[in-house]
Amino acid sequence: MAVPKKKQSHSRTSLRRAQHKIALPAVNECPRCHSPRIPHRVCPVCGTYAGREVVAAQAHEHGHE
Ligand SMILES: [Zn+2]
Repeated sequence: MAVPKKKQSHSRTSLRRAQHKIALPAVNECPRCHSPRIPHRVCPVCGTYAGREVVAAQAHEHGHE
């Protein structure tokens, strides 16, 4: 196994880790209601995925239970 010859300095470690940032979540537009939606997820507004209704829309969800 390859082994580093020299111990990496705290500065170098810190400089590398300074590039680690959290990325913004990917957001696409729902083809049905054009609201922002996470790709490959059921739309939380109209409850559709790939052109068909999968779950009841959130507006109708209130009142249950
Ligand atoms: Zn939608």
